[in-house]
Amino acid sequence: MKVLDAGFVELLDTFGDDLTVVNAARVSFHKEVAEMNVKDEKLIKYLAKHNHVTPFFHPQARFRLKMPIFVAREWFRHQIGFARNEVSRRYVDEQPESYLPDVCRARDTNVKQGSKATGVLENDVAVGLIRDSNASAQETYERLLGMGVAPEVARTVLPQGMYTEFIETGSLAAYARLCGLRLDPSAQAEIRAYADAVRTLLLEKFPVSWGALSAEEAPSGPQGKPIERTVSEEELLAKSASANAC
Ligand SMILES: Cc1cc2nc3c(=O)[nH]c(=O)nc-3n(C[C@H](O)[C@H](O)[C@H](O)COP(=O)(O)OP(=O)(O)OC[C@H]3O[C@@H](n4cnc5c(N)ncnc54)[C@H](O)[C@@H]3O)c2cc1C
Repeated sequence: MKVLDAGFVELLDTFGDDLTVVNAARVSFHKEVAEMNVKDEKLIKYLAKHNHVTPFFHPQARFRLKMPIFVAREWFRHQIGFARNEVSRRYVDEQPESYLPDVCRARDTNVKQGSKATGVLENDVAVGLIRDSNASAQETYERLLGMGVAPEVARTVLPQGMYTEFIETGSLAAYARLCGLRLDPSAQAEIRAYADAVRTLLLEKFPVSWGALSAEEAPSGPQGKPIERTVSEEELLAKSASANAC
């Protein structure tokens, strides 16, 4: 799935499905089901709503992502539940690619917001300045390599908008947390675009679980919603176990 001008999010692999969540929860009662039914869907919604997160640690997804370094810096702050391996500019000296925004968003007077949705008046000039700066950095990088400077040193001059690529594996719960935080309007537009691509791909693979997690915000979500308890997980599991017992 294409993101920004030259980035992408590619779903490489998944482990498990909605049933994986159900069976992780049902193991408490030494039960396992082979097919989802309406009770299982209710159980998933209950688990998500009441912040019983561990069953959502079992399904996993692996992505290949290409994003500007300044976005990756934010993305990599989400650590718990993820494994990542990234292309290294110590060893790779392929021509760097840099993000060129179409719109240079204007600064917002609300400092926490970062930028307005609209560009500056001289948008074309601003985009041109970024393009020139990227080209100049790239030219210097190539000159340094030409002088025999090691790639790990020459990369000093490369811009924050340069694309990097990495492989990432994470649990469904970890992605729900990341997307809960990074789809929020207060997050930077560029990272929101990546979180949206991840959300779209995970919703296809884990429709019930992802729907339940995102409807209730990420577990221990950014808003720190109080957890409302009506019936215990044990009660729900017990009801469902007796209904499924032969
Ligand atoms: C809109 C926005 C703006 C931000 N602005 C800034 C900023 O200006 N500066 C900045 O530095 N960061 C900033 N961040 C990053 C933010 O502080 C977090 O580092 C980031 O959101 C990752 O959070 P996480 O809960 O997914 O972290 P993870 O490290 O993946 O942790 C997941 C969860 O595990 C638990 N956990 C992890 N480590 C510990 C620990 N040591 N002790 C106890 N529990 C732990 C917590 O419950 C935590 O929420 C911003 C994030 C957002 C979304």
